[in-house]
Amino acid sequence: MTINEYQKLAMTTLNPKLDKKDVLINGVMGLCGESGEAIDIVKKHLAQGHELDREHLIKELGDVAWYLAETATALDVTLEEVLSQNIEKLKKRYPQGFEVEKSVGRQEE
Ligand SMILES: [Mg+2]
Repeated sequence: MTINEYQKLAMTTLNPKLDKKDVLINGVMGLCGESGEAIDIVKKHLAQGHELDREHLIKELGDVAWYLAETATALDVTLEEVLSQNIEKLKKRYPQGFEVEKSVGRQEE
């Protein structure tokens, strides 16, 4: 499955009654909510003595992906385009790979 195939398949489960503005709002809220669920799993592992629930964390990453797809869809952009733009940005920022100096001295785009 390609990332764009994922986006199409995931969006077959989007509530068709939502208008574009609601899709955008739902997407960014969902990104925050599902990221919080992922953080909570790691928090319990690091601070509360739980075993790292790897399988649960993987499922939450999938939920984050769903909301990423929703937000991209609201913007009429494919996930491939989102990810390609991110890689291009990173190539410019770290042409030789990550360097602390380039991270510390980085100007916001
Ligand atoms: Mg979840």
